[in-house]
Amino acid sequence: MHTVLISAEVSPFAKAGGLADVASALPRALSAIGVDMRVIMPKYRGIEAKTPLQEVARFPVEVGNNKVECIAYRGHLPGSDVPVFFLGNDYYFDRAQIYGEDGGDYPDALERFVFLSRGALKLCQELDWQVDVIHANDWHTALTPAYLRAGLGPRDARSVLTIHNLAYQGIFPQDRAETIGLNDEMLAPFRHSGKLNLLRGGIMRADYLTTVSPSYAEEIMISGEGLEGDLHSRRESLVGILNGVDYTVWNPQIDRHLWANYSTSDCSGKQENKKRLLSELNLEGNGPLVGMISRLAEQKGFDLVMASFERMLSLGITFVILGTGSQQIEKFFKRVAQKYPRNVAALITFSEQWAHRIEAASDIFLMPSRFEPCGLNQMYSLRYGTVPVVRATGGLRDTVHEYDATRESGNGFTFKEYSAEEMLASLRRAVALYSENPQGWSKLRARGMKEDHSWEASAKEYRDLYERVLATRA
Ligand code: ADP
Repeated sequence: MHTVLISAEVSPFAKAGGLADVASALPRALSAIGVDMRVIMPKYRGIEAKTPLQEVARFPVEVGNNKVECIAYRGHLPGSDVPVFFLGNDYYFDRAQIYGEDGGDYPDALERFVFLSRGALKLCQELDWQVDVIHANDWHTALTPAYLRAGLGPRDARSVLTIHNLAYQGIFPQDRAETIGLNDEMLAPFRHSGKLNLLRGGIMRADYLTTVSPSYAEEIMISGEGLEGDLHSRRESLVGILNGVDYTVWNPQIDRHLWANYSTSDCSGKQENKKRLLSELNLEGNGPLVGMISRLAEQKGFDLVMASFERMLSLGITFVILGTGSQQIEKFFKRVAQKYPRNVAALITFSEQWAHRIEAASDIFLMPSRFEPCGLNQMYSLRYGTVPVVRATGGLRDTVHEYDATRESGNGFTFKEYSAEEMLASLRRAVALYSENPQGWSKLRARGMKEDHSWEASAKEYRDLYERVLATRA
């Protein structure tokens, strides 16, 4: 089985969110169970400092009426021999950010990702690869199933499109159609509500669709950002497979970003991390430390947090947030951090190291998402002994289960209705257990730490899916 996975982000080379983690961990997990994997991504600025690169091909890629030069380099995913191919074109990718610099996308986003999608398929041909499955991810590469059908890629390959977040669809004005370079028939499903919608076209053209949790797969067929009808029409070919955790990166026993390592059998290092974080950020910490690590986006439930922030603090918590994004949300957290310097810290930046430290140091991890395709941080939190408090939606619903004292079950605290009151109530339950029943808290924490959310099981589901896709080739 030969699969080529194409993604706009791949950790550790370029990351804006969970897509990068998946596009890195999944190929490694699939490779470990015998799938021959190759990964293709853009050669963004600074990649050469992260992995030795070897030039492997030069060829032109058609972007609209232009033939644009592509220089392809080979590297590999750290800790594995899975090759990564970087498509280079400095005009498109030698820029400060992955997607854009003021919150939005670069104005030539369509050209950049047409280049990636067409370039990736062309690379397969240039290097004469045998390819069974092209695995595209999100709107950036959602054109590849249509390009394949139009004969612009390896012959006989089938396509899988994974939707990591339906909220980002890649929508452009109709008059940009020429840039895509498909005939009217092929382009038809990309035309939607008077616009070009790349994800919608991919949904209609891919042989199989996956999304990143079973619950999200169900939810988006009912309420799917305007595409629910299309997704429902493809329900026979839509599968929800839960993302996993890369425990070589997210494991408190070996995590090199931490002040102290720890494990289920000896959690004293966790206390040490909390102490160090509090002192480093000049915080008081008599009660539980509540952490958040997130893109500062509406999706993540920040309106609930902002509406009830002072009531949250009155529960006796200390609060730390790491994130960047919406200016309004950034401003809010900067303001409360100034107002309550001993109880609130706001790290408005992107930092791998602080993400790991906050996971380790916090007692509670808050994720009140409005919607959440899968969510990774709640699973990281479980392994780090940080009890998740989440809204039961999408992947959060599939991975976090309400604590039950009598049955000694559950791994966190959840709420259903999207309201500040419900969020506060579940946070209150968590704080009460933490303060009043340390033994119960330790047991709850230990249960979460012992859970296994590794990629192994999910990688097998993807392999089975690839086999099903191939069976459609006959
Ligand atoms: P999404 O993909 O919607 O952003 P996920 O929970 O699936 O949400 O994945 C988010 C990933 O991005 C996690 O690995 C998280 O630790 C990371 N992350 C988000 N914001 C930051 C930040 N400011 N600094 C470091 N890592 C971050």
